[in-house]
Amino acid sequence: MSILVVLEQQAGAWHRMSWETLAAGQQLGAALGQPVEAAVAGHGVAVLAAEAASKNVAKVWAVEHGLLDAYTADGYTAALEQLIRKAQPSVVLLPHTYQVRDFAPKLAARFSQVLMSDVIAIRSEGGGLVCVRQFFQGKLNGDVRVSGAGPMFASLQAGAWRADSLAAGSAAAPVESFAPVLDAVQIRQKPEAPFREAARAVDLTAAEIIVSVGRGIKEQSNIPVVEDLAHAFGAELAASRPICDAGWLPMERQVGSSGQTVAPKMYVAVGISGAIQHLVGMKGAKVIVAINKDPHAPIFEVADYGIVGDLFEVAPALAEAVRKAKA
Ligand SMILES: Cc1cc2nc3c(=O)[nH]c(=O)nc-3n(C[C@H](O)[C@H](O)[C@H](O)COP(=O)(O)OP(=O)(O)OC[C@H]3O[C@@H](n4cnc5c(N)ncnc54)[C@H](O)[C@@H]3O)c2cc1C
Repeated sequence: MSILVVLEQQAGAWHRMSWETLAAGQQLGAALGQPVEAAVAGHGVAVLAAEAASKNVAKVWAVEHGLLDAYTADGYTAALEQLIRKAQPSVVLLPHTYQVRDFAPKLAARFSQVLMSDVIAIRSEGGGLVCVRQFFQGKLNGDVRVSGAGPMFASLQAGAWRADSLAAGSAAAPVESFAPVLDAVQIRQKPEAPFREAARAVDLTAAEIIVSVGRGIKEQSNIPVVEDLAHAFGAELAASRPICDAGWLPMERQVGSSGQTVAPKMYVAVGISGAIQHLVGMKGAKVIVAINKDPHAPIFEVADYGIVGDLFEVAPALAEAVRKAKA
């Protein structure tokens, strides 16, 4: 019995969530006393497999085939099904990316299993595994018990595990090549250019402090109120999606599931309600401060410090206090 972590690469570059998923695999492996294996699929993945082998894993599978050069749901499902039948893991973990959402339900169904999607925690209980998933835009957490004879399939939410907790191995793990039997007629999709997440011209991921503005700002002409707070902190300015959709700030400043995932030392959410799609992009911040006039806004559930009030009063007062404290 082992835990198999399926890592994601595109055109030879890792998806940033691969390492979070591997970190989750290591933690689950330690809890269950099972070895952790990683798999990377594609064409010409030897270099990536060698990099994965430097982590604390028992083995890395390099799943190689010319037909896996460009991602297709049919190709990945067929290849990974064959790998899973060979490796016989008890648990298959995948990052909850757009690509995984596309093929993983079908892969799980090949084993008469469901995909536990967008999981935020996994624990062992009563000899079985319990996955925690969110409902109603993150307002409720639900425990989902997994049964069935096949392996458990779970895709893990962005930011739910931290990539910086990933343990390196003391020596390189063995890399085993796995050549699935694939035929071009099996693959019904014709790959096109992949969906582009928001461009990364501003690297919010490197920012130590982020002040982020949401729809509570009401109008584009009010943005300087929050921008001034960002300046006072020496922070990068970011935003929730509606602000970027409206063109009030550029797309690369968007935080969330279709924007950037950030993990600054401090994240100040101003007039942001805390929808799940926003939370997944920022809940890895060390300290979260929320300013919102609604005391029941979901953002307060993840906030370390909450200020219930009108941002048009609170933000300027806070900016002034920060400037005074720095003087
Ligand atoms: C597939 C998909 C992907 C998505 N991706 C993203 C994403 O990447 N990032 C993202 O952010 N969203 C994303 N969303 C949208 C997300 O669901 C929410 O709609 C969005 O995050 C809400 O933005 P908001 O919090 O700024 O606005 P709202 O939900 O409208 O919240 C505004 C908040 O401001 C508060 N407020 C109002 N006036 C004041 C005031 N004067 N002072 C203080 N507080 C005030 C209100 O109480 C409220 O809580 C996505 C949605 C989908 C379906």
